[in-house]
Amino acid sequence: MTRTISIFGATGSIGDSTLDLIRSDRANWNVVALSANCSAEKLARLAIEFGAQIAVVGDESCLPELREHLSGTSIEAAGGAQALCDVAARPVDITVAAIVGCAGLAPTMAAIEQGNTVALANKESLVSAGHVMMQLVEKHGTTLLPVDSEHNAIFQCLEGNNLDDVRWITLTASGGPLRTKTLAELEATTPAQAIAHPNWDMGAKISVDSATMFNKGLEFIEAFHLFPVGLDRLRIIVHPQSVIHSMVEYRDGSTLAQLGPSDMRVPIASTLAYPARMDTSCKPLDLATIGELTFFAPDEERFPATRLAREAAHAGGAAPAVLNAANEVAVAAFLAGQVKFTHISAIVARTLDNYAPPAPETLDAVLAVDAEARARAGEMLELA
Ligand code: NDP
Ligand code: MG
Repeated sequence: MTRTISIFGATGSIGDSTLDLIRSDRANWNVVALSANCSAEKLARLAIEFGAQIAVVGDESCLPELREHLSGTSIEAAGGAQALCDVAARPVDITVAAIVGCAGLAPTMAAIEQGNTVALANKESLVSAGHVMMQLVEKHGTTLLPVDSEHNAIFQCLEGNNLDDVRWITLTASGGPLRTKTLAELEATTPAQAIAHPNWDMGAKISVDSATMFNKGLEFIEAFHLFPVGLDRLRIIVHPQSVIHSMVEYRDGSTLAQLGPSDMRVPIASTLAYPARMDTSCKPLDLATIGELTFFAPDEERFPATRLAREAAHAGGAAPAVLNAANEVAVAAFLAGQVKFTHISAIVARTLDNYAPPAPETLDAVLAVDAEARARAGEMLELA
């Protein structure tokens, strides 16, 4: 039986991995919509290859180019933030939410409102909207499947168990490419060094987040919303080999872990086939070659991001949205060569100190907090 699918962020790293799985299982899928921000040529090529009904660019100024590349086909073209939401509202069996950043929030919410299945990669949207998003999931009876490898691992380790029996959920972190650097070396880190992840091949923003450990901070908040065991039962451990993707310890002393190669096609495949399994061509895990698995406590002196995220999670309300927005601004500034690597966490900390609005209760309120936090973080760049 073929299933319908829409992929938001189809031209990115998660989009590539998702489409690779669909390419090898073509007969079972009917692609409805694919989106990009402005990679019009690539988006059109994918839409043609997969016979999509519609292709959407988030940046409306890229729509003429998209139309040009799609001319002579029957594929619809659309552009702009509202078009992303309208297309996300078209019913499909599964939506893959893989836009990067809070830009993915509104389309993800529109997909959730359909009440089908949403495979969520776009962690920033859940961090920012938290309860607002989870309430919508509950209201519409949506199946929310985590794509993020750690959360996908936890989801698998929780299957058939009771959350009340969980003693700990442990998120593993590779520690990123700068794990062993001194503070002085961190300060001198270039964008190229920061995005050179040892285990995973990802988009630029999440690669910087992995280097600062904000990725793990965002994932801590993401886990808090997806698996409501309480903040005191969530912890982080550094595991440089990225073989164990996360663990759940139960009150009887059993710890369940999910292991796999560092290839996002594995967790994505588990969401596409859920609750069944599908084949992937991923290289099998070869533990004898890997030899050793090691573990370290996070160093929050050199990498304050996980502390800032934990504090924001405890503060609740708007704090995670402010943290996320400030981080997005700081990472973009770092990638543009405007601020140093170590300024990223400093900018986030200062923005959190400077802006503490009331808890947003609606999507629009979350977006307003996000916009104001971006403006304030932008002012902090001057001071960095
Ligand atoms: P990429 O940067 O590789 O891709 C991002 C995608 O989002 C592209 O399709 C891009 O389009 C689109 N996009 C960017 N900005 C906007 C915007 N303003 N409006 C609409 N679309 C936009 O990112 P990744 O694939 O690495 O990550 C995607 C999400 O998945 C992130 O939230 C990340 O944290 C999460 N994730 C990623 C993992 C990975 O291994 N890559 C692992 C776990 C989670 P265009 O090509 O036109 O710029
Ligand atoms: Mg992850």
